[in-house]
Amino acid sequence: MKTIIEPFRIKSVEPIRMSSKKSREFYLEAAHHNLFFLQASDVIIDLLTDSGTGAMSSEQWAGVMRGDESYAGSVSFQRFENSVRKITGFEFIMPTHQGRAAERVLFSILCKKGDVVPNNTHFDTTRANIEFQGTEARDLVIKEAYHPEAFHPFKGNMDLEALKQTISDIGVDRIPLIMVTITNNSGGGQPVSMENIREISKIARKHKIPFYIDACRFAENAYFIKMREDGYRRKSIKSIVNEMFSYADGCTMSAKKDGIANIGGFLCTNDEKLAQQEKNLLILTEGFPTYGGLAGRDLEAVAIGLNEAMNEDYLEYRIKSTKYLGDYLSQNDVPIIKPPGGHAIYIDAKAFLPHIPQEQYPGQALVCELYLEGGIRSVEIGSVMFGKTDPKTNKEVFAPMELVRLAIPRRTYTQSHIDYVIESIVNVYKKRDKIKGLKMTYQPEYLRHFTAHFKSL
Ligand SMILES: *Cc1c(COP(=O)(O)O)cnc(C)c1O
Repeated sequence: MKTIIEPFRIKSVEPIRMSSKKSREFYLEAAHHNLFFLQASDVIIDLLTDSGTGAMSSEQWAGVMRGDESYAGSVSFQRFENSVRKITGFEFIMPTHQGRAAERVLFSILCKKGDVVPNNTHFDTTRANIEFQGTEARDLVIKEAYHPEAFHPFKGNMDLEALKQTISDIGVDRIPLIMVTITNNSGGGQPVSMENIREISKIARKHKIPFYIDACRFAENAYFIKMREDGYRRKSIKSIVNEMFSYADGCTMSAKKDGIANIGGFLCTNDEKLAQQEKNLLILTEGFPTYGGLAGRDLEAVAIGLNEAMNEDYLEYRIKSTKYLGDYLSQNDVPIIKPPGGHAIYIDAKAFLPHIPQEQYPGQALVCELYLEGGIRSVEIGSVMFGKTDPKTNKEVFAPMELVRLAIPRRTYTQSHIDYVIESIVNVYKKRDKIKGLKMTYQPEYLRHFTAHFKSL
């Protein structure tokens, strides 16, 4: 069959409040042209993030009812631990309230001032938690990752020569760990090949440097390996996942992604001494090691969700529905990062709106226009997010790419929702010449994309 259907029936629904273009003009004005200020009820299709926005299954909701809320030794923790251990093979497993909490615990023990942590591309919370320790977060992704049009089956791979060079330049003593992010979120949700993971592991082991996986989208990455890498087509997703983790010494995880839960995360290691230190820190800031800042019911939802994320029918639908959106946009000449990644489509706003200069934020202008057209909420990943005003010269420093991300929540929207998104974007593309740039009228000192104000020019 050519038609891919959602491999689930809908048991519970959440109404979407429709709105008119006229009212959206008003909401956008009130939100200072920053979609983070919108009320979610004024959004028709919310593609702001795929984090914690997935729909839980009937099994997960049943697990929520079963949740054991004992402070210590909860049965739900045992189920959670078993599930994570079967998937990752790691010995010591600590729940945390989110991925960034796992990162904070790990880096505050391993990293010190002057150290360097290599990764394919650090996710923003990973980078921030590393930099908070006075450590450098260094991106070593292959060059193809920086070219939207360049095709590579594993555009999230790490540049192995650059990794070796970094180790010889910096010295083993100043590299507390090597990480790889699967799939590479900040690089467009692009996968990393098994061969690349294996080679990073070899290099790390040769130098006795711990190797960690940022595992947020481990199941999506495994599906890409199955489809695109020689020798994996006949293997099960579970065995591919087991192999990926077998090369690492530990992982950090946000269960809001491939855990298909609304909250949660975990930290794993095989190092007993490190695990003891981590548990002590966990008790200090997150909670007792059998709940780590989560409720027992959350642990159940994660334990079940991790397995559902590895279901092959689900993954086929997941990856193909993202590709469906990407392919239709490409066929209508809308410039996107190619090939489509796992969890999101990235529009190249610089190419979409070539008449808007970077100082007028083409990405943000496009985000606003998609909201006006169809009530779609996307996010700018460009100079609003990563640029800054140099305090000395008062000049803007721009980001290398001006992107708009459409992140797809898991199991939440159907194909007709996506058809509506495609139609809205194509409509905007047809009248792109008339879209105007923006002026930033307010910016805070840090993380300005969340709270900046803009005015239409
Ligand atoms: C979301 C994410 C994180 C952080 O997880 P939170 O649960 O949001 O704290 C870390 N790394 C990657 C790749 C992510 O996508």
